[in-house]
Amino acid sequence: MTKKTDAKELQKHLTWEFPNIGKEAPGQREKADKYCRDYKEFLNKGKTERECVKEAVKMLKKAGYRPFDRNASYESGDKVYFVNRGKALIATTFGKKPLTDGLRINGAHIDSPRLDLKPSPLYEKEEIAYFKTHYYGGLRKYQWGTIPLSLHGVAVKKNGETVEISLGEEENDPVFCITDLLPHLSSKQNERPLREGLKGEELNAVAASFPFEGEDLKEPVKLMALSLLHDRYGMTEKDFLRAEFELVPAGKARDVGLDGSLIGSYGQDDRVCAYTALTAEIDTKKPEHTTVTILTDKEEIGSDGNTGLNSDYVLHYIEDLAEQADVPVRDVLRASLCLSSDVNAAYDPTFADVYEKRNSCYINKGCVLSKYTGARGKSGSNDASAETMAKVISIMEEEGVYWQAGELGAVDAGGGGTIAKFVAHMDVDTVDLGVPILSMHSPFELASKLDIYNTYKAFKAFYK
Ligand code: MN
Ligand code: MN
Repeated sequence: MTKKTDAKELQKHLTWEFPNIGKEAPGQREKADKYCRDYKEFLNKGKTERECVKEAVKMLKKAGYRPFDRNASYESGDKVYFVNRGKALIATTFGKKPLTDGLRINGAHIDSPRLDLKPSPLYEKEEIAYFKTHYYGGLRKYQWGTIPLSLHGVAVKKNGETVEISLGEEENDPVFCITDLLPHLSSKQNERPLREGLKGEELNAVAASFPFEGEDLKEPVKLMALSLLHDRYGMTEKDFLRAEFELVPAGKARDVGLDGSLIGSYGQDDRVCAYTALTAEIDTKKPEHTTVTILTDKEEIGSDGNTGLNSDYVLHYIEDLAEQADVPVRDVLRASLCLSSDVNAAYDPTFADVYEKRNSCYINKGCVLSKYTGARGKSGSNDASAETMAKVISIMEEEGVYWQAGELGAVDAGGGGTIAKFVAHMDVDTVDLGVPILSMHSPFELASKLDIYNTYKAFKAFYK
């Protein structure tokens, strides 16, 4: 007969549960907090994909990276970067091993759900000027009313000059705002399904309310808005047609909770993986395998467009690397390993019924490895192989990374996709890894500092 203590030992040996890092390694809290200080700065400076690229290029240049030159030849330890149209970026540290031993690819995305201005956005109604918007990515429209919004983006003027706008982040900047009904008059609106709490064509942001002075002026408030834009940026109404303007939640990343254990901010999906991937890339000095760190655009709308991963821009970059090394690109791709680094939905006890407890990820249990994503029976998913899972798990465990496994909610509760399938399409072993997030795609997403720090550690281990 087995003694009681032996049974306990056996149980410990045979079963597995992911630990809470706060319980098991409280010493990591300080390190995580320190690491996240600069992360918050990155979030504050990078409110759009273009701003993230600019910030990333600054960091890369400071770390000695040079623009990639396909005609140059590189040695182990050399560091280069490539910018795709100001909206996506690839960085590389050349490794000791030949390219035919494969690349270590890490792809995160730097676009986030937001409200884009329509091509002809400005109008006046009952002496109020508004911007019309078209939402970008999956968002819950009702969450975007009555919060301060800042305006970011670029317009290319007729003379070719590019005007950059970032308005609403400084303390004395004006912000923009979508109005909503007061509870006293919302009895009819309250009957709407939640997805129509605010409808798409109701996402109109107040742009001005003072009329421009002058006699017999048609739409004087709209003129006021235009004149201010002209004074500040030299823009006219027609320039909106040559522009990309985004309304995003104004304000800075904050610590959340009495213990400051979490970070609350707009855009953590997926700038949290972009930042951790980028800093791991920068901190990697002489890796075994050549690294390819990708910060991509357009993930939130299906990765389409030539700055998204469903375009060949990454393939072309890898072709250039292969050509330089004089090896067939297909041999490089087939031997490569990719982390598709994106966030996953953290278990939310308040909304427990859309999760399946055993297979959800949790805050403070580390980065989350997601074998598959997709919807309706894994459709649209990369579904990593057991072999790929084994490789990535052993990379993390050798370096003592806290990680967990998780899928996106309960079966048929919904679903989603990432860039994984587009990298896999190039014949690369790929798996999703990222940070658990509460209130994903909302104007204020929450992530745990310990999880962020361990994601950085996972990426560092991956690039070793
Ligand atoms: Mn994402
Ligand atoms: Mn997303």
